[in-house]
Parts: sequence; C-alpha cells; structure tokens
Amino acid sequence: MKDDTILAHVGLHPHDNHGIVNPPVYHASTVLFPTLETYRNASTARVRYGRRGTPTTFALEEATTALEGGEGSILTPSGLAAIAHSLMACLKTGDHVLVTDNTYGPTRRFCDGVLSRYGITTDYFDPLIGGDIEKLLKPNTKVVWVESPGTQTFEIQDIPAIAKVAHDHGALVLMDNTWSGGYFYKALEHGVDISVHAGTKYIVGHSDAMFGVIVCNKATFEIVRDSAQLFGNCVGPDDVYLALRGLRTMGVRLNRHNDSGLKVAAWLQSRPEVLKVMHPGLPGDPGHALWQRDFTGASGLFGFVLDIAEEKPLAAFVDDLQFYGMGASWGGFESLILPTQPENSRTATEWNAGGQSMRIHIGLEDPDDLIADLEAGFDRMNKAR
Ligand SMILES: *Cc1c(COP(=O)(O)O)cnc(C)c1O
Repeated sequence: MKDDTILAHVGLHPHDNHGIVNPPVYHASTVLFPTLETYRNASTARVRYGRRGTPTTFALEEATTALEGGEGSILTPSGLAAIAHSLMACLKTGDHVLVTDNTYGPTRRFCDGVLSRYGITTDYFDPLIGGDIEKLLKPNTKVVWVESPGTQTFEIQDIPAIAKVAHDHGALVLMDNTWSGGYFYKALEHGVDISVHAGTKYIVGHSDAMFGVIVCNKATFEIVRDSAQLFGNCVGPDDVYLALRGLRTMGVRLNRHNDSGLKVAAWLQSRPEVLKVMHPGLPGDPGHALWQRDFTGASGLFGFVLDIAEEKPLAAFVDDLQFYGMGASWGGFESLILPTQPENSRTATEWNAGGQSMRIHIGLEDPDDLIADLEAGFDRMNKAR
C-alpha cells in the first residue's frame, strides 16, 4: 500500500461498527468481563481497561505504525510526552545520551533538567557531524537523538551515517520526525529505531488538539510501550479522534504545504531584505543534497534571516501581517511567523546569521496572498528602519 492509501484506509474497521466509516469515540475506564473465566484471562484481552487503549486508540496506532513501517506505536498526550517517554524507556542511571545541538528546546531541557537527576548525562553534537559522531560515542552512550531538519535552523542530518556508527557501538537512534509527519521521511528505513512525533502539528493539522506518537521498530516496541504504560500514559479519546480525523487528510495537506512553502521560500530568497533562507528544498541550501537523497518532500515550516537587528522594524513587519499569526506550534492549516533566537539555544556549535532569524509556517492559504502579505510587511519594515 502506498502512503496516501494507508492514510485513507488503515485502522478503519467499519463492519465492526454497523458499517460506520470512522471508529466511534469510546469513553472508557471500566471494561466489564462477563464471566469469571474471561476475567481470569483479562491480560490477553485487547480491550481490558481504559488506560490501556480502546478501539479508537488502536485505529490510530495501526495507521501511524503502517505509515512508517514500524512494529507498533504508542500514543501520548503531547509531542513532548512522546519525547520524554521514549527517552525514559531507553535509558538508565549511568547512561550517556548524544543530542543534536539544534533539537527542539524542551527536549534539551528534559535532558538537562530531568535525565540529569537520574544520573544520565547528555552531550550535544553538531547537526552536520554525520559519521564523525564516532568520536563522541562513549562506552556508555545508549541513545543518539537526532532531529532533521532541526528546530529553528533546519539543517538536514546524515541519519543513515549516524545510525550506522551508533548501532556499531550498541546505541539506539531516536528521531524527532515531526517536520515530515512521517510522510516525507521514513525514519525507520533510514536506520532510526524510534520515530517520535509531535502529532499536535501535521497529524492533527487543525491547531486544536495536543497529541504525540512514538513509532517503534521490533527491538524497541515492547520496552517503550511497557515503560510508558507504567508512567500512566494515555490519551483522551476525543483527542485521539481528532488526530485520526486529521491523519486521513495529511497527505493532501502536506503536499500543498510543500508546494506553497517552496514558492514562498524562493520568493523570500529573491528579496534584498532577506540574508538567508533555511529551507532544505531550495537548491543551494547546504542540506539540499541530503534532503533530495532521503526525503520525498518538504513541509511548510522553514526559517529565514532578515537584515535587521532592531525591534522597531521587526514590529513594523510582523504586527500588521494579515494572514500570519504569531504563536507557538505549527502544522495547522494556517500560516504563522515568529522571531527566533537560535544563537541562544546552542552549546556545541555557534549560530551567527548576522540578522534577525525568523521561523515561518506556510499554511493552506493561496501562496500569492501569503507573498503579497509579506511584501507589504517588508514595505512597512523598510519605512521603519
Ligand atoms: C512542537 C514540537 C514538539 C512538542 O510537541 P507538543 O505537542 O507541543 O508537546 C516536539 N518536537 C518538535 C520538533 C516540535 O516542533
């Protein structure tokens, strides 16, 4: 089955439910067993207690697992919960973790603030390190955490090269694969053991529900599932339903984000106000060759650097944009823009772009309207310099 067919079909079992296309939202805590014998065998029942999942949860797990060719998926109430549960499941006191320097900020804070309390140490590495990560691996390195493209700066990592070295040393490779939705990047096929998503972004796709998913290979699935279970992890059924509804259209949305994102990125590159565009789909981007080799498309999120340093022209640019909201998260149908400070969030590498870095999410609006809105913003910005 190809991806768009998986998205439209996997997890649907209409004839288990009166022919109704979508699985119902099961609100469940107690699940009753009709006889002593079935109760004695409860541990083998698929549905046995609300926290352990219902047919609504299983439908979504089936689909996310199929999309990335995993052994199984664990749903979590947010992307950050998926990150935390996958790391906690794979690490113990005395272990060492290597994390890419451009990782999502809260991932870094989880490693520095929580893992450290359990005697687990973290070092950060240059996202462009590739196979040279060998030099940083210690005998107790158990996890290499990658994110490609990375948060805010969008470098593409050579994940097959990193995975080969990590596996030779007995370390697992965990990836934050949120940017691609698991649609444009097949993490497990490129050597990743566990692909983690903020489903809040493209899977949900409508800026409403929070949700995360951990897609595991055969070696890791039961370990992560059992660990997350013992932390009490479970997701409310209404949010699972919203995620499932979003997933069904993710392919068409992502292809539109790809096309419009590339169009706006190329336009930005042509502007004198823009020092640099960080979008791996643009020819000339440092990550373009690896992106072409490993990805089948680009989502709508990328970065650029403005030739300003002051607050006043920045405010003139963003304050009156008509179609771009300012706020956290992304992956919904609408466009967003934010100033970023990659220079403040790194410890292994330096970032000095020489201007104001921005993060932009290109939504499903008409890209010509989005470009015209930015153009008017640049006019205001230039007058405010
Ligand atoms: C948003 C985001 C997360 C966290 O997701 P939440 O659902 O907000 O917890 C993790 N990784 C990346 C790359 C993100 O952009």
